Amino acid sequence: MIGAGPGDPELLTLKAARALFEADVVLVDDLVDRRALAHVRPDARIIEVGKRGGCRINSRASTPQAFIEKLMVRLARRGATVARLKGGDPFVFGRGGEELLALRAASVEAEVVPGVTAGLAAPAALGIPVTHRDAARGVTLLTGHTHDGSGPDWRALRAAGSTLVIYMGMARLRALVVDMLAAGYPADTPACAVQNATLPGQQEVVAPLAGLPYAVAAAGLASPAIVVIGDVVRMASVKACAERAQRVA
Ligand code: SAH
Repeated sequence: MIGAGPGDPELLTLKAARALFEADVVLVDDLVDRRALAHVRPDARIIEVGKRGGCRINSRASTPQAFIEKLMVRLARRGATVARLKGGDPFVFGRGGEELLALRAASVEAEVVPGVTAGLAAPAALGIPVTHRDAARGVTLLTGHTHDGSGPDWRALRAAGSTLVIYMGMARLRALVVDMLAAGYPADTPACAVQNATLPGQQEVVAPLAGLPYAVAAAGLASPAIVVIGDVVRMASVKACAERAQRVA
């Protein structure tokens, strides 16, 4: 179970590269930058199992989770060394936990290689220190997309003084911001969104919380993006973004 990091191939760990080289079969998700596959042996098999991947069952566009789990177990039982390559960190909103439990239930031995999660790489790309002690008491990783549509306890989060990092928040950004304002977050709370963090196409907007959905729409930002909310966003460096743009150019 390998974390591929947020996109920049240099953010793949040495351990991930070593483990990929040992694999006979690699099951790879959509969000994984294909340059990570440079570490796979030429004789290894690569299976795309992402949402828009080539592995389609019953003409569904996405590979069902249960199918991925069964496939991993089947391949491992045949004696193959299977790499499950997932974007960011496998255990941060990546269903890596479910997959690990399925492997354990089938008595398949598994090793986990953590990855740099997008929720920490995105603020880092703008030079935002997420737990800077003058501005935050901690950092909370949240999803904007829950199966039952319920949201977190925004009042409790606000009272905790934590920087918020929201994954999968773009589709419901307006609703999330309305809920946060209703829970007492000041309209001018510093906020930003970063699309394709660490990749050449990275785009970001920094705006006060109440204006973030408009700024995101005006800039045409979409998924995959990370939203960061809290006083630490004041430290976002436009210079860091400009330098990166220059490097890419
Ligand atoms: N396990 C992954 C997260 C998977 S959930 C991790 O640890 O990073 C998918 C969400 O991650 C996307 O909707 C988006 O919110 C975020 N994401 C992944 N890669 C990203 C990137 N390069 N830039 C911005 N957001 C990204």
